[in-house]
Amino acid sequence: MIHYKTKAEIELMRISNLLVSKTLATIAAIIRPGISTWELDQVAEQFIRDNGATPSFKGYGNPAFPFACCISVNDAVVHGFPTKAELKDGDIVSVDVGAFINGFHGDSAYTFAVGEIAPEVKQLLRVTKESLYKGIEKATQGNRVGDIAFAVQHYTEREHGYGVVRELVGHGVGRHLHEEPQVPNYGKRGTGAKLKEGMVIAIEPMINLGTKNVYHDKDGWTIRTEDGKAAAHYEHSVAVQKGAKADILSSFTKIEAAEKANANLCSDYSNESIQAIAV
Ligand code: MG
Ligand code: MG
Repeated sequence: MIHYKTKAEIELMRISNLLVSKTLATIAAIIRPGISTWELDQVAEQFIRDNGATPSFKGYGNPAFPFACCISVNDAVVHGFPTKAELKDGDIVSVDVGAFINGFHGDSAYTFAVGEIAPEVKQLLRVTKESLYKGIEKATQGNRVGDIAFAVQHYTEREHGYGVVRELVGHGVGRHLHEEPQVPNYGKRGTGAKLKEGMVIAIEPMINLGTKNVYHDKDGWTIRTEDGKAAAHYEHSVAVQKGAKADILSSFTKIEAAEKANANLCSDYSNESIQAIAV
């Protein structure tokens, strides 16, 4: 059953989602070679709790997910466990965050580059993020879930030859983290649930550089690419509207600004070290 939200409920969901976005921006500001994903998770959990919310993912599912964030590095697509291993220059890190406050969940994800990444991986990140917005463009009243799915798949798979993960999908979100309908990243136009005003859905392309095939790590949670190549994941929670584009409740604006500032800071550091060597 699909739970339609009132305008007031959507405003509450905006609060939950913007808190998730700010949490991701906090991570964007500190992610760098040498930091561990365990540290990132600690910072995120503290930030969520300091803002009066609880992390949606901690304790979720069976076996219970043990951390605040899903942090998936390189070939890990989603649902990765934070670890104490240090991130290295050239890694990519997908961080998926949920926050529960005022009775509603926020859910959003972003893939970060650590230092300088390979050009083919940089393109994967760009195209996956673009595919999210192509999906969102189709999320208007009167369209169907398949229209979103087709838009994501066509852009990533047909136009760029990437692998679209089949086993994991986006979803409705609200009082529960996962509600109906399911929102796949592959499918046929004009099929699936009809989109109606008041639906809030998490659209989340999970796109692989190589094969679409994935496997379950023995930790019971982490999903990895079968060929070991990189995977990217971007997610927004959006409210479907009548006669207008979807209202994006989460936001990448602060994340992208922090990402830029962080990259400049890192290159300043490297300039400093070059000068030190020259002296
Ligand atoms: Mg998520
Ligand atoms: Mg989600």
